[in-house]
Amino acid sequence: MYIFQLIAVLFLVGCSADTTVNNKTFDELIQQSTIIVPVSNPELEKKHEASTLLISCVDFRLRDETDKLMETYLSLLDDYDEIALPGASLALVQIKYPHWSKTVRDLIGLIEKLHNIKRVIFLDHRGCGAYKLLQGKEHAATREKETHSHKVVFDKAREILKKEFPKLKVYTLLMGLDGVVENFQ
Ligand SMILES: [Zn+2]
Repeated sequence: MYIFQLIAVLFLVGCSADTTVNNKTFDELIQQSTIIVPVSNPELEKKHEASTLLISCVDFRLRDETDKLMETYLSLLDDYDEIALPGASLALVQIKYPHWSKTVRDLIGLIEKLHNIKRVIFLDHRGCGAYKLLQGKEHAATREKETHSHKVVFDKAREILKKEFPKLKVYTLLMGLDGVVENFQ
């Protein structure tokens, strides 16, 4: 078996979200056996609780916006766990892939025990491929239809959690690809 033996240190100071760091490609960067990422808050090592579980979609287009929403706009920096599954709330509610739903339920139960979370935030997004796949393209034929489709799924997700995890407060948000986040209460 091939074992990486290279020792290299990657200094991330000043690097951006570009696909290259110091003009190196991913293939070059991944050859390093050690990568040191500066820790923003060493005190977190002693922390064992988080207030919130975020259930988001896997979509690559909204990763940094999701971080900003949670950290800057909802003040939850270093205070949330995250599960990312296609469709976010839809992963729990849909019935085509029952194991997705079971996985979400199992993870909520586990994380509630592990980190004593008090709330779950479902973060769906507009233009979601998983919704198109599972709800049909027509679900987003108009903005109103897309909104309605998410509302129906959010209501079911809230119902499931109320029954299975009655201690957890549930919040449902829909993010647009333009960064606008609508709160479904
Ligand atoms: Zn999506």
